[in-house]
Amino acid sequence: MFDLVIRNGIVIDGTGAERRIADVAVQEGRIAAVGPKLGAGKREIDAAGLVVAPGFVDIHTHYDGQATWDPFVTPSSWHGVTTTVFGNCGVGFAPVRPGASGYLINLMEGVEDIPGTVLSEGVKFNWESFPDYLDALASMDRAVDVAAQLPHGALRFYVMGDRGADHAEVPTEREIEEMAKLTEEALRAGAMGFTTSRTTKHKARDGRFTPSLSAREAELLGIAQGMKRAGRGVLQVNSDFGPGEFEALDAAAKLAGRPLSCLLVQVDAQPKLWRETLDQIHGVRQAGRMANAQVGSRPIGVIMGLETTAHPFAAHPAWLEMRQLSPVERYQRLAADADLRRRLVETPSGGGPRAFMAESFHKMFPIGERPDYEPDAKNSIAAIAERSGRTPQAVALDEMMARDGKGLLMLPFENYAYGSLDVVHEMITDPATVLGVADGGAHVGVICDASSPTSLLTLWGRDRTRGPKLGLEFLIAKQTRGTAEAYGLMDRGLLAPGHKADINVIDFDALTLKRPEVVYDLPAGGRRLIQRASGYRHTFNAGVETMQNDELTGERPGRLVRGAQTAA
Ligand SMILES: [Zn+2]
Repeated sequence: MFDLVIRNGIVIDGTGAERRIADVAVQEGRIAAVGPKLGAGKREIDAAGLVVAPGFVDIHTHYDGQATWDPFVTPSSWHGVTTTVFGNCGVGFAPVRPGASGYLINLMEGVEDIPGTVLSEGVKFNWESFPDYLDALASMDRAVDVAAQLPHGALRFYVMGDRGADHAEVPTEREIEEMAKLTEEALRAGAMGFTTSRTTKHKARDGRFTPSLSAREAELLGIAQGMKRAGRGVLQVNSDFGPGEFEALDAAAKLAGRPLSCLLVQVDAQPKLWRETLDQIHGVRQAGRMANAQVGSRPIGVIMGLETTAHPFAAHPAWLEMRQLSPVERYQRLAADADLRRRLVETPSGGGPRAFMAESFHKMFPIGERPDYEPDAKNSIAAIAERSGRTPQAVALDEMMARDGKGLLMLPFENYAYGSLDVVHEMITDPATVLGVADGGAHVGVICDASSPTSLLTLWGRDRTRGPKLGLEFLIAKQTRGTAEAYGLMDRGLLAPGHKADINVIDFDALTLKRPEVVYDLPAGGRRLIQRASGYRHTFNAGVETMQNDELTGERPGRLVRGAQTAA
């Protein structure tokens, strides 16, 4: 008798193959059989009319800190995700010298917008080396599997001390050799890869650019030697791809003999640059080496409300006067004081971020009950203002005051230069891409894209009206086998015998992404944006049910994954 049989579901197995009606049987945490009329199970689920798919594998998250205190790894676990990979973009928390955690917190706070107070209270730092960090992660049972990568920022700071954060400094030969040695050690202990950042978007809280930004070729090649000796791991990069950048990163991946994985988004300032980078990746693949681009399923959207980090009035003197008030007090004060509201919307804006916001009302949109990730320009704050004879500022403030001060706006700032998702369609359908970019656990006061796997299915598989949709078989493969393969996780992402029984049972017709909300549930009462979904009927990790009807069951079958895996 099987442990579990999911019967008569619409099986979409992760290969991209056409759906079929079948049973899925589970035995001892693995898939035992997929086919018609399988034998009895100790537990049976009637999945007639429901999609049965592999658990989602999200390779681009930043749960490095959260995974040490939160066994449930939300919001990702609410969206069918059964494996998360973190340590991306060169930031993370190991290796770390005793007493030196402050700098890594400062870097993570600046680069990924996770509040320093949350991190210093939440993260225990009871490790020094990267293998120690993996052991600390392994000591916790959790709802989802987690996997970590060695971040360049932490590595550089560990080896070079404060010089590691100074862009005028170059590591000595001996220091480069030390970085290579630690890279090899981390990969052998189970790191999934080595990650680096070469983007000026990434600054530590103290204002300095992220340490790896200016790392020169000798350093990258030195680290690549460590990867080569280990013979494992992915080289993941977040780069602005200025002149020569791709070549330098490719040279390192080539020397290491390891796959290169590049974050790829469309930026407004250079809306065609992503295509050049993708062409370069194609070139690498044609030369017989492994490379991919990590792409998103929707725009990267800054979410704005009275309780989030950024909004059109965040730098206004009248707003700053209320800095000391609690969110509730601030809302009450605003609701009661028409003069104050008038001052906020009528005083001319200064420079800086406020000016940026003021120029962005034409691409700022109210977020409704069912968030629209491909909003039409005619629904922008500027368009609403135009139609109603008000100023955009007044409309924006009204929208944020709605629902007792919980109203939210979205400002798509990447992948949306042309005001539609045609560019994302091109990215997703390119064979050299995998899904990434969702940044679960990061930018918690600004964005909430950990829900991307859900919008991948709802938006592209069902709801899109402004262009072509995509088949569910293709979309599911992209978020399961595609992402798993990118990291050599060959034991998952597929509904086939011998694979891990990581399974989603989804009521696809009812699958709905809800509006984001601000909650204060991080350590030290820290704030974050979360987003829930409905329609996930069951999620299993290794055959154990972790989610039922959109709620966590409390079960914790998830483990630390150490390095690439093979199916049983
Ligand atoms: Zn990232």
